[in-house]
Amino acid sequence: MAYVVRALPVNKNFRAFAVECKDVVETVRKIQGLSPVASAALGRALAGVALLSADLKTGKILLQINGGGPLGEILAEGNYQGDLRGTVRNPNVYLKIKNKKLPVGEAVGKNGFISVVKDLGLKEVYQSSIKLISGEIAEDLAYYLTVSEQIPSAVSLGVLVNTDGSILAAGGFLIQKLPEAQDKEIAELEEKLKNFPLITTLLSQNKTPEEILEMLFSNIKILEKRELRYKCTCSKERVENMLIALGEKELEDFIKKKESVEVTCHFCRTKYTIPLERIKELLKELKEIKGG
Ligand SMILES: [Zn+2]
Repeated sequence: MAYVVRALPVNKNFRAFAVECKDVVETVRKIQGLSPVASAALGRALAGVALLSADLKTGKILLQINGGGPLGEILAEGNYQGDLRGTVRNPNVYLKIKNKKLPVGEAVGKNGFISVVKDLGLKEVYQSSIKLISGEIAEDLAYYLTVSEQIPSAVSLGVLVNTDGSILAAGGFLIQKLPEAQDKEIAELEEKLKNFPLITTLLSQNKTPEEILEMLFSNIKILEKRELRYKCTCSKERVENMLIALGEKELEDFIKKKESVEVTCHFCRTKYTIPLERIKELLKELKEIKGG
């Protein structure tokens, strides 16, 4: 079972989060036919957004990464219920392994931006972005949080892909400094992180998120453990709303061509067919909205 934990290290001025999401990444790999490097990149983004959304009480967070590399844009979304979904523009990018590692940074690229969109169901959606520094995602996310949100953060994300392409391990952790943190405890944590094993090593040894945080802080209080799953929010109604949003002219073009409209969801690959008769109805609705 994939899950994320939110914890407070006892007697330390930090917030800590850790995630294990192998099943979620394996699910998206199968749905989208991801190559190993695409699995690794999207898996890291999904683990990252799971960490960011771990303390949401409502709404959702979208992580967008566009580094100009061969994978193209990566999207990962998480909500307050632990539903995750994500997609990568070019899922069939194959790059050679370098130093026993999938070259995620090269596949993502670093000529672009990482953006975080927070939709808490309020009137305004909060969005902020910052230039990518490495395309490795964890580093970029830490830089984003530290600079853009002004919360000094350490992030580790990792995905281990088997030779047959299946996912062996996926997850990560996020440590955030509270304003009261003392220089001494910050230095101690930095020293610990410097010599800390790779997240993929720990996860493939079946270390749990709780155990990984205990290795970092020896004593932690778990505030919440939240189950995670791959779940898309698309529906026929949303597809129809999207068609209406295209406008009258587009709908009239579909009707002229006498074609039903096929839309495939990028996240779950569900195919929606909207028949011609329904498009005519949607056009009528749109005209009524405008007229009224
Ligand atoms: Zn979908």
